[in-house]
Amino acid sequence: MSFADSLYQLIVQTSTNLPSDIRRLIAEANRRETADTNSSLALATIALNVDMACETERPICQDTGMPTFVIATPVGFDQLALEEQIRECVARATKAGKLRPNSVDSLTGKNSGDNLGPGTPVIHFHQHRQDEVEIKLLLKGGGCENKNIQYSLPQELPGLGRADRDLDGVRKCLMHAVYQAQGQGCSAGYLGVCIGGDRTSGYDAAKMQLFRKADDVNPIPELAELEEYVTHNANKLGIGTMGFGGKVTLLGCKVCAVNRLPASFFVSVAYDCWAFRRLGVVLDPKTGAIRRWLYREQDEIKKLAVGQGFQLTGKEVVLEAPISDEKVRSIKAGDVVVINGLVHTGRDALHHYLLHHDSPADLHGQVLYHCGPVIIKDDQGRWMVTGAGPTTSIREEPYQADIIGRFGIRAVIGKGGMGAKTLQGLKQHGAVYLNAIGGAAQYYADCIDRVEGVDLLDQLGVPEAMWHLRVNGFATICTMDAHGNSLHRDVDQASLAELGKFAEPVFAGSHD
Ligand code: SF4
Repeated sequence: MSFADSLYQLIVQTSTNLPSDIRRLIAEANRRETADTNSSLALATIALNVDMACETERPICQDTGMPTFVIATPVGFDQLALEEQIRECVARATKAGKLRPNSVDSLTGKNSGDNLGPGTPVIHFHQHRQDEVEIKLLLKGGGCENKNIQYSLPQELPGLGRADRDLDGVRKCLMHAVYQAQGQGCSAGYLGVCIGGDRTSGYDAAKMQLFRKADDVNPIPELAELEEYVTHNANKLGIGTMGFGGKVTLLGCKVCAVNRLPASFFVSVAYDCWAFRRLGVVLDPKTGAIRRWLYREQDEIKKLAVGQGFQLTGKEVVLEAPISDEKVRSIKAGDVVVINGLVHTGRDALHHYLLHHDSPADLHGQVLYHCGPVIIKDDQGRWMVTGAGPTTSIREEPYQADIIGRFGIRAVIGKGGMGAKTLQGLKQHGAVYLNAIGGAAQYYADCIDRVEGVDLLDQLGVPEAMWHLRVNGFATICTMDAHGNSLHRDVDQASLAELGKFAEPVFAGSHD
């Protein structure tokens, strides 16, 4: 096996197969969550999706994120040659639909199409004295990356009061970090945290904490205690999986401390989602053959699904476009809604486009899906969907209500929920917001019968183009209806009230 073969294996496996420790946490979450709730439904779908991705060797989530490699090589090893091979393997995995083309020129918006470009992929090299090459890879998507947060202490925090420059202040930040993410980063989430550093090194060190194994114990007793406290108590906030409300909100928390300037006290948080994709390999430095895998255990839980995922009961609302005003107003927040027929994808670039142009497809009575799928062409030149879960909807909050009104859209599918402006727009124009299970790329790809067409592909690239997909049995939960009800607003308010219960000091202040 060559370096290229081993690197390609690492990329494919990281995108399609969760590490043993995260599998265990998801299995545990499934056991802990109250049965027959929206959160348990979401967890069951997540478990099934993980199994499907592993079996088909397709992406667990359609957002395969920013590939971040952390590499240790022996002294004298040719790092430049390895970097070149990494870039080739990233492009190859993208072409094969194992990674979504995710590298976009920040000025022109043009997608490079192969996940290569300035700053992509991210590669950190170190040297070590072992006679082996260790390569770790993290694929962390944009939805959870957007929920990263950095605090500069002292700072006032909603519900918690002042966070001071001490361990108790850090504790408050971490409880707040979980609260502010709600379901938008595809909870149940995971925190990597750095206390100290500067603005850039703090975020970097926080992300590196995500390479620690879930069951390791922090060697610094205060930090071990903090990690345990946050993991345990964040689950009392009641945010639940996907922000549906429930017992499982956070899967883990890893904290490091690095030195800081006297004037600064940053707490940097890297928020990862349930689709916590990180693996590693140890390679022979001469041949590139894989000596062993990292984050894989002998007794790994191979099958996570306990039921059939999104269990349907026959009581669901079934929607097929074109949808009438009367039909859409009969749907209530909390209803399970199954979509059949045509849906049109649209995310950030399309919303921006629609502000200034006509829609390439007639959207009256139609369903808009916030989704940036992974789509490649098969041997016969037909489009093939290899991953198609929802993307985070809140990014479209500034545009959504106007676009619903202007184009007559009746249903928006996404994840994580939307805000007050969209809620008002749903009421005014007669439309609903349907929450699909974030990250369930294989589960939803399986609901797509065929790709009927695509618009704006050359202009916007694969993830941002407007794909016209014919779906069958596409299951969602209505979380915002046309009567002003929003489950997201309710969970936010309830979790803020819970957060307030953690305002009292727990850890002794360092200045006491
Ligand atoms: S699971 Fe959700 S937050 Fe994570 S990468 Fe996928 S869409 Fe993004």
